[in-house]
Amino acid sequence: MSLLDRREGLPSRTVLIPVEHRPGRGRTGGWRRWLVVLAGVLALAVSGATAVAILRGAGSQPAPAPPVPPPRVAAKPTAPVRSAAALATAAQQRAIMRLSGLGVPVFCGAARGNEVALTFDDGPGPYTATLLAILRRFHVQATFFLVGNRIRFWPRLAVAEAGLGAVGDHTWSHADITRLPRQAARAEVNRGRSAIAAAARAPVRLFRIPYGRDPAWLGGYLGARGMLEIRWSVDSRDYLPGTTPAALVRRVAPGLRPGAIVLLHDIHSTTVKALPRLLARIRARHLRAVSVPELLRTDAPSYSQLMADKRGQGCVDLATAGRE
Ligand SMILES: [Zn+2]
Repeated sequence: MSLLDRREGLPSRTVLIPVEHRPGRGRTGGWRRWLVVLAGVLALAVSGATAVAILRGAGSQPAPAPPVPPPRVAAKPTAPVRSAAALATAAQQRAIMRLSGLGVPVFCGAARGNEVALTFDDGPGPYTATLLAILRRFHVQATFFLVGNRIRFWPRLAVAEAGLGAVGDHTWSHADITRLPRQAARAEVNRGRSAIAAAARAPVRLFRIPYGRDPAWLGGYLGARGMLEIRWSVDSRDYLPGTTPAALVRRVAPGLRPGAIVLLHDIHSTTVKALPRLLARIRARHLRAVSVPELLRTDAPSYSQLMADKRGQGCVDLATAGRE
């Protein structure tokens, strides 16, 4: 039964009987009702068509699909990028720290590789800048043991020296610390170290004793401060009066073997004049001139070698390579 039939109170089978023939209804009122119904139907039809049109319109011009976001990939944790030079520097520092804890000076490397280390003491001085230019020209490195109270005369050289290898402490005033009271001797070490580190803007962990004489307490004292005493296996004796560049090369050349540490001084013009010939000799022997920290990184002496070198006061048997 439809809603209309219910309103009329008629059974469902009478729905098709024209209204005008129903009892108690006038002709005019019936047509009016039909018109209302017709208007309602038309209104429904129009609204339905409109809805269909809207839907069709929406379908004919589909809205652009929203961009599909790229799949989210969890970022992998990456280690901080460190240059090869930075890694090598860190390894050099570790090698120094390992050896410094032993409290024994280093005279030379283990002679396993092809590196030699040239060391220049007593600077900076008037010939140091020329020396640095020669090292740059040959693309080699060296180590400089500076005297603290001389830095103020050439204040910019320490940074350049650190950039061309390494700097080390040669005390504040080049004192013979075996002749000083313990406290004054320690002050020579510490004041020199501080001045050099400040000027070079680099940590100072290497130490070289002036005059080659060190008190018994020095090794332990340096080791407790993360410092390492560096001696040498080849003495150029460039301080001897009358030394010519040729004579200097002749003295040094026999000792130019893997692991050698060569003692030189950049306060002598002769030494700087001899340097190109010395570097040419090193190159001709297929050796590589490196800083002391680099030598210790690649060719560190063993503990037994350190003790043997200390007893012998130098790498007297350096020719027998590969000692352990
Ligand atoms: Zn000296």
